[in-house]
Amino acid sequence: MYFPMNPRQFRRRFRTEGDCLRYVIRRKWPDGFRCPRCGHERSYLIESRKLYQCAQCGHQTSVTAHTIFH
Ligand SMILES: [Zn+2]
Repeated sequence: MYFPMNPRQFRRRFRTEGDCLRYVIRRKWPDGFRCPRCGHERSYLIESRKLYQCAQCGHQTSVTAHTIFH
């Protein structure tokens, strides 16, 4: 992933962690989240743990893996 801003600018732009999370999600999955294991489209966002849990197989995917938030 590529962020054109430095971390200080980034923090100023995104006041809350929830805003950051939603931004990351839109960047990583512009067409909506899809389970990397089974391809299922429905999932639950566990915001406190920054995880997506697949509604079908229960596979958990970290929203912030491989980003500057990790
Ligand atoms: Zn799945």
